[in-house]
Amino acid sequence: MKKYKIALIKGDGIGPEIVDEAVKVLDAVASCCDFDFAYEEVLMGGCAYDITGDPLPQETITTSLNSDAVLFGAIGGEKWDSLPREKRPESGLLRFRKELGVYANLRPAVVYDELVNASSLKPEIIKSVDIMVVRELIGGIYFGEPKGRDENKGWNTMVYTRSEIERIAHQAFKIAQKRDKRVCSIDKANVLDVSQLWRDVVTEVSAEYPDVELTHMYVDNAAMQLVLNPKQFDVMLTGNIFGDILSDEASMLCGSIGLLPSASIGDKIGVYEPIHGSAPDIAGQGIANPIATIASASMMLKYALHEEEAANKIDRAIKRALSEGYRTKDLAQYDAKEVCSTSEIGSIIANYAAKCKH
Ligand code: NAD
Repeated sequence: MKKYKIALIKGDGIGPEIVDEAVKVLDAVASCCDFDFAYEEVLMGGCAYDITGDPLPQETITTSLNSDAVLFGAIGGEKWDSLPREKRPESGLLRFRKELGVYANLRPAVVYDELVNASSLKPEIIKSVDIMVVRELIGGIYFGEPKGRDENKGWNTMVYTRSEIERIAHQAFKIAQKRDKRVCSIDKANVLDVSQLWRDVVTEVSAEYPDVELTHMYVDNAAMQLVLNPKQFDVMLTGNIFGDILSDEASMLCGSIGLLPSASIGDKIGVYEPIHGSAPDIAGQGIANPIATIASASMMLKYALHEEEAANKIDRAIKRALSEGYRTKDLAQYDAKEVCSTSEIGSIIANYAAKCKH
């Protein structure tokens, strides 16, 4: 039987509670598939600093690189906010992503039918929205040189190389092949030279994927189209800063932040994590919504382990739990039949995932 090695990073705040539920669901799915998991728990964030003096101990990097995938909760909290920047949990996370070379951030924005009323947009606009934002994560203006400031001037540089664009474009087209086979590449090619290169290279790469339709859109129009008619998008391919903004906008179409998963992938190993933080305000109360983390585990099965059917079982189990009216506190006002604790909804989803045959 296949045994996948998973590095587990629970982190701070609600991190341990939500990762435990994702593990429960993964084990339930494994029990009716021909594979199993071997988990190794490692530390990152404030809890790592408290024990080792470093928010990202070397062991965490080594164990992660020797695993098939990383499942991560969240880090951070007020307790560590006054530490010097390099000791803070958030610095550990940024360093972690860089060490693992995860250049592609995948953020699905899926609106569950049962929760159309949880969005700030009208139900008819957002019903059936299913978008995947593929954002370049370790290049562009956040990393370009030169950068700096003096008293009267501040400057950053947006740089992309051909190879950086090629590798993220390949990711987007491959992902689109498994979806509705449409990529919309977002840029500002009417103004920026770097965007014109982006557009040219994406167009070149698209020749290798004749089954995928490619369109281009300027970023300002994309921001508008996302709220006007989000259903027109399948895969949105973006650079770092445009994706940062658009993926937050896309995720808010869906209602609660506790629902949204993500994957950060590269050539070595992927990190699968909810988009939200450690929610210190609700930590330890058993009310956090674990669905974002459970859905991240599903992405891990799909993208890292290529266990698509098992991933589908989890996705269907989440939908079934929602359609039967099970809700954590954050969604209690949206057609809840029963308000559940973190662990109760985790068990319900695990139970359904183990039973889902189709
Ligand atoms: P947050 O995402 O932790 O919380 C924002 C709000 O959403 C809070 O009211 C919280 O209770 C709620 N929320 C978040 N996740 C939820 C869930 N699963 N179920 C129900 N409600 C949920 O953002 P914040 O409060 O700005 O940040 C808290 C800490 O998290 C900070 O230290 C921040 O730096 C850190 N953070 C970490 C990550 C990460 O680990 N990837 C990401 C963002 C923020």
